Amino acid sequence: GSLKSVKFVKSAVKPEDFPPPNKPEIAIVGRSNVGKSSLINAIFKRSIAKVSATPGKTRLINFFLLNDDIYFVDLPGYGFAAVSHKEKQNWKRMIEDYLLNRENLNLIIMLVDTRYPPTNLDVLMKEWLESFEKPYIVVGTKIDKLNQSEKAKAEKVIRETLDLSKNVPVYLVSAKEGTNIDKLTSDILSMVKS
Ligand code: GDP
Repeated sequence: GSLKSVKFVKSAVKPEDFPPPNKPEIAIVGRSNVGKSSLINAIFKRSIAKVSATPGKTRLINFFLLNDDIYFVDLPGYGFAAVSHKEKQNWKRMIEDYLLNRENLNLIIMLVDTRYPPTNLDVLMKEWLESFEKPYIVVGTKIDKLNQSEKAKAEKVIRETLDLSKNVPVYLVSAKEGTNIDKLTSDILSMVKS
C-alpha cells in the first residue's frame, strides 16, 4: 500500500475529544528529540508535524487521517529533563490512558535514536508495551549520522538493549535522506489493514 492522502484532524488531550474510534489507528511514541516530527514529515512527504530545536514542547495528542481510512497519532515525547515532576505525571497519565483504552489502536511505532543505545526510559516503554500485549514495531532514527560499522551494529544494539523478541520488526531509517521510509510506510499500512 502507498500513502495517497493525509490530513490533520485535531489535537486533543482528553479521550472525550478524540475522534470516534471508527478506523484502525497507528500511534508513534519516543523520547523527545528522537526525530518523531521529522519521521512523520518524511512518511507524509510534507511538513505536517513541527520540527523543533527545543524538545519537549508538544503536550498534545495529534490525530491525522491517512488515505481517509487510518488514523495516525503523534503522542508527546518522553524523557525531556527540563519538565517538572507534575508535568511528567500528567504525561504518564495521558499516554497510559490513551495506550490502554483506545480501542481502535492497532499498532505502536516506537522510535529510538540510533546514535545512542536505547535509554532506560525506552526500555521501560518497551516493557510497558509488552506487559499490556500491545502490538509494536521499533524504528531506529537518524542512521545518516552513523558510519558503516555503526550502521552494521545498530539493529543488534537496539535488539539487545531493549531485549526484543525476534518477531518484533526493527527498521533503521533516515528522515533526512529518506532511507527506508517507503518500506516502513508500506509495511505499517499493510500491518493495520485487515
Ligand atoms: P522530535 O522531538 O522527536 O519530534 O524530533 P524532531 O523531528 O524535532 O528532530 C529533533 C532533531 O533531530 C532536529 O534537529 C532534527 O533536524 C534532527 N533529526 C531528525 N531526524 C533526523 C535524521 O533522520 N537525520 C538527521 N541527521 N537529523 C535528524
